[in-house]
Amino acid sequence: MEVPEKITCVDCGQDAHLITYPPEEGWQIGDYVAYRCRGCNDRWDLVVDENDSGTASDSFDFRQWLKDREKK
Ligand SMILES: [Zn+2]
Repeated sequence: MEVPEKITCVDCGQDAHLITYPPEEGWQIGDYVAYRCRGCNDRWDLVVDENDSGTASDSFDFRQWLKDREKK
C-alpha cells in the first residue's frame, strides 16, 4: 500500500507533506496518515483505503475525499 509523499492543500494550494512515518510492515487499510501544509500550516488527516492503491499519486483524489467528507 502506497500513500503519496505530498498532497496539494485545498485551502491555499501549496504542498502538504506527509508527517506520519510509515509502519514497518507498510501502510494498511484503515491507517491514519497526517499531512502538514507548509502554506497555511493546516494538518490533514486521511485514512488509507483500498482506492488509494497504485503508484500514481493521481489515484489519490484528495479533493474528492474532502467533498465526500463534507457531505457526511
Ligand atoms: Zn494550506
